[in-house]
Amino acid sequence: MQDLLIATRNAHKTTEFRQLLGPCFTVRDLTGLAAVPEVEESGATFLENARLKALAISRHFPGQLVLADDSGLEVDVLEGAPGVHSARFAGRDAGDASNRALLLRELEKRYARGKQRSARFRCTLVLARDGREILHSQGDVPGWIIHRERGKEGFGYDPLFVPAGRCHTFAQLPPEDKNRLSHRCRAVESLLRKWASAAPGRETSPGPAEQPNHRV
Ligand code: IMP
Repeated sequence: MQDLLIATRNAHKTTEFRQLLGPCFTVRDLTGLAAVPEVEESGATFLENARLKALAISRHFPGQLVLADDSGLEVDVLEGAPGVHSARFAGRDAGDASNRALLLRELEKRYARGKQRSARFRCTLVLARDGREILHSQGDVPGWIIHRERGKEGFGYDPLFVPAGRCHTFAQLPPEDKNRLSHRCRAVESLLRKWASAAPGRETSPGPAEQPNHRV
């Protein structure tokens, strides 16, 4: 059993990670932990932001394996917005409902119809210990932004996002179904594959953006 700290206070994300990672991981998050540093998500990409969080939080909890994610929605007709600003699209303290309302207004302004409403969720994960990156992975799921919210499950932009090939939004799907399709699921699968092939005793070849510590 591997103890894993998720660098988030978003209970929805933690629940999804717990389901996705399965029984080999004991998952907890930052909720209730005192004096955890606030990490400014100042990166220009999901990877930069996930790395900032993973390295800062793992430095703060010596010896602890830490997983950080950065994720968001990219809408093609908005040139990739809200992207890394997904959580604060409608302003620094904006909630999910205001972010969704702004997204619909922006698409209306551009008279975006049908295929012009293509989008994708992206998720980047960084696994770190003691301020050093061990692995990173990415996953995405393509789909469409509909005109009106549908469904009550999930969080964020889920009521507006229909994954490609489906007719229900992420917020209409039971959590198990969203978890089978989602960007987070794809990123976790990729991370677990890399984790398995980087098992102790095996050499790993560092990717260009990674740091030298690649042994898990
Ligand atoms: P983060 O916490 O900085 O990664 O911000 C992620 C933001 O992207 C969230 O606040 C949501 O607005 C959006 N987002 C990421 N993943 C999802 C998802 O699975 N469903 C809906 N919205 C998501």
